[in-house]
Amino acid sequence: MVLTISLPDRHTFYAGKPQKSSTSSETFQSVDPSTSKPVCTIHTSSPSSIDSAISAAKSAFPSWSSTPPVERARILQKAVSILRSRNDELAKIETLDTGKPFSETSTVDIVTGADVLEYFANLVASGGLNGESFRLRDSAWVYTSKEPLGVCAGIGAWNYPIQIALWKSAPCLAAGNVMVYKPSEVTPLHAQFLAQVYTEAGVPDGVFNVVYGAGEVGAYLTKHPDIAKVSFTGQVSTGRKVAGSAAGEMKYVTMELGGKSPVIVLPEVDIEQAVDGAMMANFFSTGQVCTNGTRVFVPEKLKAEFERVLLRKMDDVRPGDLMDMNTNFGPLVSEAHYKKVVGYVKHGINVDRATLLRGGLEKPENLPERLNNGYWVRPTVFTDCTDEMKIVKEEIFGPVMTILTYSSLDEAIVRANNTELGLAAGVFGKDINECHRVVKQLQAGITWINTWGESPAEMAVGGWKQSGVGVENGRRGLEAWVRNKSTLVEMGGAVPTVFAKL
Ligand code: NDP
Repeated sequence: MVLTISLPDRHTFYAGKPQKSSTSSETFQSVDPSTSKPVCTIHTSSPSSIDSAISAAKSAFPSWSSTPPVERARILQKAVSILRSRNDELAKIETLDTGKPFSETSTVDIVTGADVLEYFANLVASGGLNGESFRLRDSAWVYTSKEPLGVCAGIGAWNYPIQIALWKSAPCLAAGNVMVYKPSEVTPLHAQFLAQVYTEAGVPDGVFNVVYGAGEVGAYLTKHPDIAKVSFTGQVSTGRKVAGSAAGEMKYVTMELGGKSPVIVLPEVDIEQAVDGAMMANFFSTGQVCTNGTRVFVPEKLKAEFERVLLRKMDDVRPGDLMDMNTNFGPLVSEAHYKKVVGYVKHGINVDRATLLRGGLEKPENLPERLNNGYWVRPTVFTDCTDEMKIVKEEIFGPVMTILTYSSLDEAIVRANNTELGLAAGVFGKDINECHRVVKQLQAGITWINTWGESPAEMAVGGWKQSGVGVENGRRGLEAWVRNKSTLVEMGGAVPTVFAKL
């Protein structure tokens, strides 16, 4: 089935609607990655239109921040209902923009975004923003309150567009802040739909605004004096620039960055389960997931069996028509990213000289002819890999698994931690105590035992080391969008002063 949706041009969205008059003459295209055909024209936000979006947000802040949390929650819960009622419509937009199969976008992307919005709405409605109070002494007590920050910038990566937009805007708005959001220029389509959902739900004009464009639009937001916080998802190299610029202005930051995460298969393991986990950790979303477990450590004695089961199961990776519910593997998101991933596969074959177990440089077999120009690659597995290979060290962000063998578990743990990144890690094994012992030693902010990839709203997630600063989701995720105020109240009737008369 061919997915054709006609979409009007996109313009900077602020004060509750797209603002055609203020956008620049520069445009760019959103492209269907399965065919490489353009699907929508986006107008880059000029500096003056970004200023207008920030100014609309600033005007909306006093009223939104003083709306009682339970009332804000009611509005956000309405947005959750609208998102769920439009799940398939929004999933088609995400499929068109990202190239992910509809079987994935219709069950994951909008669902996990709406879940997080519901979670934070419920959290603030049920006292999540309450501070604490305590008696300091008989005549004095202290209370604390969680205060919103003001106008916050959300800057998104291209891999989970609407989910990222919701994971940022949900706690931001629930806590009483307002947002100016910049989607990736590679996958910008969801942004206006989300803005319209918020408006329809009753979110006041100016509370959620959208600006479009490439890195310079993000950089303009990051250093703008009226932005109180920057929540960023993207590559480590960009994150360093964004965090540096924000820190110079004392802005709050949350950084959700890249990874090169290890999967450790224990010697005593259900091999079918371990292979299923390793495949989810490498081929889901065509490998374009920040928490990908791309370094798969397997005991030497299990290597042959692991690879045999893996090769059998890889026949169940099914590229094809994105709207076919049996398709579970899409193209890469863009031509630039396709070239990058293919470059790594070439490097793995020609320079690293790892053994190519499956996949490689060809496009997948049996694709319908009309998809021939899309950014398709094969799910790829390299084995006999060593720690110093480039394909083992660098984030590829594509469907490229590297298998490394180990002889002792302590050695595997040291090697797994031997990276500047620390986003995710996981262990597969039958002995649950051993699994906990290994997880305890892994240097990563998100860890899994006998599963891979699930990231529910209740679970705070964020990277260690160069993979990020702060967390999203869970109770701790709300703390990232408030600042503390402590108040000491003296009831003794006299100010304790050193300037009393002698
Ligand atoms: P990029 O770092 O290239 O871009 C992320 C966003 O930052 C985009 O909107 C981009 O704009 C914008 N940007 C670029 N330069 C600047 C700048 N100087 N100042 C402010 N903003 C800027 O990341 P990708 O989009 O390529 O996303 C993939 C990366 O994201 C991977 O490394 C992945 O691991 C990581 N990621 C991390 C997640 C996590 O939770 N830890 C989740 C998802 C992805 P534009 O692209 O429009 O030019």
